Amino acid sequence: MTASPTLVWFRLDLRVSDNPALHAAAERGAPVVALFLLDDAEAGAWGFGGAQRWWLHGSLASLAGSLGERGVELVLRRGRAAEILPALAGEIGAGAVYWNRCYEPWRIARDRRLKQALAETGVEVESFNAALLHEPWAVQTLQGGSYGVFTPFWRALQQRAVAAPSPAPSAMTGLRGVESEVLADWGLLPAKPDWAGGLRRTWTPGEKAAEGRLGAFLQQAVEGYAEERDRPGLDSTSRLSPHLHFGEIGPRQVWAATRRFLERQGSAPGKAGKSAWKFLAELAWREFSYHLLFHHPALPEQPWRPQFAAFPWSDDEAAFAAWCHGRTGYPVVDAGMRQLWATGWLHNRVRMIVASFLVKDLLIPWQRGEAWFWDTLVDADLASNAASWQWVSGCGADAAPYFRIFNPVLQGEKFDPGGDYVRRWLPELAALPDSHLHRPWEAPAELLRRSGIVLGRDYPLPLVDHRRARERALAAFEEIRKEA
Ligand code: FAD
Repeated sequence: MTASPTLVWFRLDLRVSDNPALHAAAERGAPVVALFLLDDAEAGAWGFGGAQRWWLHGSLASLAGSLGERGVELVLRRGRAAEILPALAGEIGAGAVYWNRCYEPWRIARDRRLKQALAETGVEVESFNAALLHEPWAVQTLQGGSYGVFTPFWRALQQRAVAAPSPAPSAMTGLRGVESEVLADWGLLPAKPDWAGGLRRTWTPGEKAAEGRLGAFLQQAVEGYAEERDRPGLDSTSRLSPHLHFGEIGPRQVWAATRRFLERQGSAPGKAGKSAWKFLAELAWREFSYHLLFHHPALPEQPWRPQFAAFPWSDDEAAFAAWCHGRTGYPVVDAGMRQLWATGWLHNRVRMIVASFLVKDLLIPWQRGEAWFWDTLVDADLASNAASWQWVSGCGADAAPYFRIFNPVLQGEKFDPGGDYVRRWLPELAALPDSHLHRPWEAPAELLRRSGIVLGRDYPLPLVDHRRARERALAAFEEIRKEA
């Protein structure tokens, strides 16, 4: 038994199960102090966005409850980790400081310095992996390099064994009387105005809710995932992304539960098995995004393909505002942007459609869309957001070619054929028949009248003509191709 307390620094790992830092602290046997540090001040442009702050409040409340059940109080502090962590370690006489690693470039640089500074004071410092199936440096090409293409990355990933998740520690000893700030004082929840009603109705942050969501998905939806995951009108994906982002559930837990599901399918897994593997492959896209961010730390700001730095972008503020607020006149785009605003989440297919529209139909830089998503998504994640924006824009690793431009009408008709999704988020168009739902400007005047719609008043006319916008985008792309 070691007497000097262990300080566990929680970050994007807000859970007690499969939490190696907490597990190691419990094993060490000494009293445990659990800390969450609101370190926004060090994050630059990448501090928690508005929707993430809302989520964080609920997630911390949930974590405090789970730790409390185990006799440990969650200590909250705000400020610079470089000052607070050594000070708190000194205050409690910590013999060890443990945390789980994060991979945002600013956190890597800061944590490295902190680790050294703490170690120099004689404290045992250790960091662990809680956020990924494998460390981004562990998956390597045969030549020992990093991957820029998903398929070989996924193949390499499948050849590695995934560590089994560890259970939550049952009994720990806490250290009483450590001063903590009050969660409600952090102002993470919006007040004036309170825009979070839709988020509250849609989500329950926290570890228990995350486990419940995974269980329900594996029981009810995974079988149809491969066929239905592209249909935004159906509830056919796991919606685990914000839980994974905040580490309320870890990818090893998702992997292990899905593998158990696969084992239950027996030797001829059929459609259900194909679907479950497709789901695991999506989880691998998350890993790939972290792999890219780790090896290309400028990914959130600069195009992975350098010739795109010279792309002739537009600075049309009115068009950007219309996109943000779902007023482009293209129903599937507007439905998506309204779903995002109302719930803090957006279906993957529609993320691709709205991103393509911003970057290709409006020629607005992907970084602006990335920043809007950063503020409005509850799952805003530096790696997945940056990698995905670059992927859609054609400037990223293994990206969709720039010249492959989504037609928002055809995408809507293909993936929302019955119009459920558009009707849900654009009730003003609900009375239009399917034949014109995704192209209201082509509806005959009489049909519009019967549906009670005046275009330009109840719903906007298209902001751009897609065919012309497409030609303009291809011409812009030619400019950088010539120069490359
Ligand atoms: P499921 O289909 O159930 O997939 C399971 C998990 O796999 C997800 O929770 C997620 O962690 C991971 N995943 C699935 N697809 C991807 C993908 N393409 N890239 C990386 N991980 C993936 N995802 C984020 O978590 N945060 C972001 O900030 C983010 N920004 C995006 C921006 C754009 C422009 C696009 C096109 C995609 C973005 N994605 C982002 C990826 C993807 O859209 C979401 O992860 C997914 O929609 C989340 O829903 P789900 O949990 O139901 O996913």
